[in-house]
Amino acid sequence: MFLLDTEELTKELKTEGLALWEYALNQETERSGRSREELREQMAQSLAVMERSASTARKEPVQSVSGLTGGNAYRYDQYRREGKSLLGDAASLAVGMALSCSEINASMQCIVACPTAGSCGIVPAVLLSCAESRGLDRQCLVNALFTASAVGIIVGSRATVSGAEGGCQAECGAAAAMGAAAVTEMLGGTPEMAFHAAAMALKNVLGLTCDPVAGLVEIPCIKRNASGAMNALLSADLALAGVKSYIPFDEVVDAMYAIGKAMPQSVRETSKGGLAVTPTGIRMKKETRGGEEK
Ligand code: SF4
Repeated sequence: MFLLDTEELTKELKTEGLALWEYALNQETERSGRSREELREQMAQSLAVMERSASTARKEPVQSVSGLTGGNAYRYDQYRREGKSLLGDAASLAVGMALSCSEINASMQCIVACPTAGSCGIVPAVLLSCAESRGLDRQCLVNALFTASAVGIIVGSRATVSGAEGGCQAECGAAAAMGAAAVTEMLGGTPEMAFHAAAMALKNVLGLTCDPVAGLVEIPCIKRNASGAMNALLSADLALAGVKSYIPFDEVVDAMYAIGKAMPQSVRETSKGGLAVTPTGIRMKKETRGGEEK
């Protein structure tokens, strides 16, 4: 049984001398009956999809199927390559990668839902950009994806990763928590530090609504992936510096779920509130879909 109490889990990992990624891999080996090699190979295949989706829309402009959005990953990457970004190399690369994955999703090409399609850019962006800036190999990235999966399992089991159930805090918040923990462990942090990073990332977006314009996973979703990547990197950076979350990760997850349940339905993926019903949001919906209901 996967331990969902993070204090208990951290204690067990300390006693066993295991990293969080090893625990997740062991658990999955036990649950699925598949070998560690098979599971690592499958994760490596997901990594390859992540790498493709994180680069394609940076190399050439990609438009969404609806025609509503597109081209921003390419635009931002040009700006970054010209050395104009206000952010450092790893962070600006992560922004471009997050935008790229999300634009690839909106163009209906292949992505890895991690944990969802709407939040698919955050985990690849932070892992790939950090691995590139630190010269880490694919094995480290595969391990880090198992760390991310452990955090995703805890959020999905204790609460939800669905925007319809918990708002965007449950999607982009969970993705940022997964990415923050994975980067922390990949860069040498302990499981305890990884959970502090995850807790900080999720706390930063508590209450975040799900209000996509025209019911499409584009506005504000694509840019929320970029900001989610920044949130994950910031949280990992804080944790690696020794900063701790006062509230433990599992308690933050429970709070997120309670907040999600208390949110009105209008801001839980119904597109009946928030940005979706601004004058511009309504106009865009009419232009895109002739005003029909989702
Ligand atoms: S706003 Fe809604 S649809 Fe868009 S990424 Fe967030 S949870 Fe997903």
